[in-house]
Amino acid sequence: MSPAKGILVGKTISQLKGLLAAKEVSAAEVLASHIDQIEAHESDIKAFLSFSFDEARNQANELDKNFDFKANNAQSPLAGVPVAIKDNMCAIGTKTTCGSKILENFVAPYDAQAVVNLRNSGAVILGKTNLDEFAMGSSTENSAFQRTKNPFDTAYVPGGSSGGSAAAVAAGFATAALGSDTGGSIRQPASFCGVVGMKPTYGTVSRFGLVAFASSLDQIGPFGRSVEDVALTLLAIAGHDGKDSTSLKDPYSSASNTKNFPQLTLPFIEGLSKRSPAELLKGTKIGIIKELIGDGIEDGVKESVLSATKLLTSLGAQVEEVSIPHAKYALPVYYILATAEASANLARFDGVRYGLRDLEATDILSMYNETREAGFGAEVKLRIMLGTYALSSGYYDAYYKKAQQVRRLITGDFDRIFANYDLVLSPTAPSTAFKFDEKTGDPLQMYLSDIATIPANLAGLPGISLPCGLAPAASSSGIPANKLPANKLPANKLPVGLQLLGAPLSDALLIKVAYAFEQALKLDCSAPMLANSSVSC
Ligand code: GLN
Repeated sequence: MSPAKGILVGKTISQLKGLLAAKEVSAAEVLASHIDQIEAHESDIKAFLSFSFDEARNQANELDKNFDFKANNAQSPLAGVPVAIKDNMCAIGTKTTCGSKILENFVAPYDAQAVVNLRNSGAVILGKTNLDEFAMGSSTENSAFQRTKNPFDTAYVPGGSSGGSAAAVAAGFATAALGSDTGGSIRQPASFCGVVGMKPTYGTVSRFGLVAFASSLDQIGPFGRSVEDVALTLLAIAGHDGKDSTSLKDPYSSASNTKNFPQLTLPFIEGLSKRSPAELLKGTKIGIIKELIGDGIEDGVKESVLSATKLLTSLGAQVEEVSIPHAKYALPVYYILATAEASANLARFDGVRYGLRDLEATDILSMYNETREAGFGAEVKLRIMLGTYALSSGYYDAYYKKAQQVRRLITGDFDRIFANYDLVLSPTAPSTAFKFDEKTGDPLQMYLSDIATIPANLAGLPGISLPCGLAPAASSSGIPANKLPANKLPANKLPVGLQLLGAPLSDALLIKVAYAFEQALKLDCSAPMLANSSVSC
């Protein structure tokens, strides 16, 4: 590997674009450096389920030959940038497994719209990343194929369900990545892996070609190592799509955005670096969610988030405590609605049209049964049963309908807050990354790691997670790390994520505040294999 190539790993999008525009490096060299990084560390991390290196090399060579990196910045904002895609999004000609045996050999016949948009922006696609089966989980341990490790410390999970995408960015395998977030699956792994992850407003990124889990909650979004990278990747993938009936008309234009939030445009993103954090934060009113900073939140996480609050205040933001009285119902509401929708969405995997089919079965009914029995893992089966129960006649009103009503109340809580505040903050997750097998035996403990992220999905809000500190690793004894005797203290520290949530379509405002915070904090949270890289997140 040439020295120039090594330095390319861990750079931000704008740093890469600067080098490409100045012809200091070629797209092929950028790609080669990332492939080298994957070859050096992927056997430890296991972020990917498949690679598309040949196609990526062709694409990079084509860019080097025919693309003017200097002149075409605005039309192709990600030209030459290596990206990874969660393996529940279709990319033509590649396997799209959803981390499930039932789709183990399914080759996508078309591109998801987000993937089309990525390709149009010039991004170079490296491959597909590991996930919890059908995106159901919070640790990526539910993948039928492999366990992805946290690049900070391989004894710990990367979070989930988009754990492969978060780990790929944290390890410097990809500059940016796509994930999907139904109850926190972008934000929580971003928090565990020390990267930035964003779930945009519901409807801003097309769900066409994203294998559906819970359609009223699913949203595609970006991971990056900086807020600016996440903003640029979001800009590339967002936009109206007639093939998704919930896609918003013109998500970031002033016509649909009646509250006059800033619009997400390239000049807006590029303009952020021209203003100081204090200028960017001037007059911003932020609510800190009372219910998400008390009991059940690890002390190290609480401390990092409270010092983030102090930093924001010192920069001129006004931070006050706010309450979401119905937040306590978010988890049960989510697990009724998400499982109900999943039970309907996953009915299509029956051995007839897609993936696995039990060929031994002698009649159609046993073929359905045996295929689903063999193809789905335990968590997916559990959720299909829960969802089917919640939708069954006699229980529908008591569970599904009631959950819809409470969902409305949670949305109402946020509406009231956003009448007075620009945005709200909380920890992204109640703890730092946990160890493998620590929560697999107790689904409720696993579900609780999404307590802070789920409300945004129920209310359709945009949310971003960015690193705000490092805290002692959570102890598997259940005792908070900073209450353990000194000789039992875990040696390592793991990243803590700060979550910012805003009103629908306030995505650019969230990005602005997150950017200001990131610039003011100047935290270096590079994973060990990137410790010498030039980027601090
Ligand atoms: N961890 C949550 C679940 O298992 C959220 C998953 C997601 O956002 N895809 O449902």
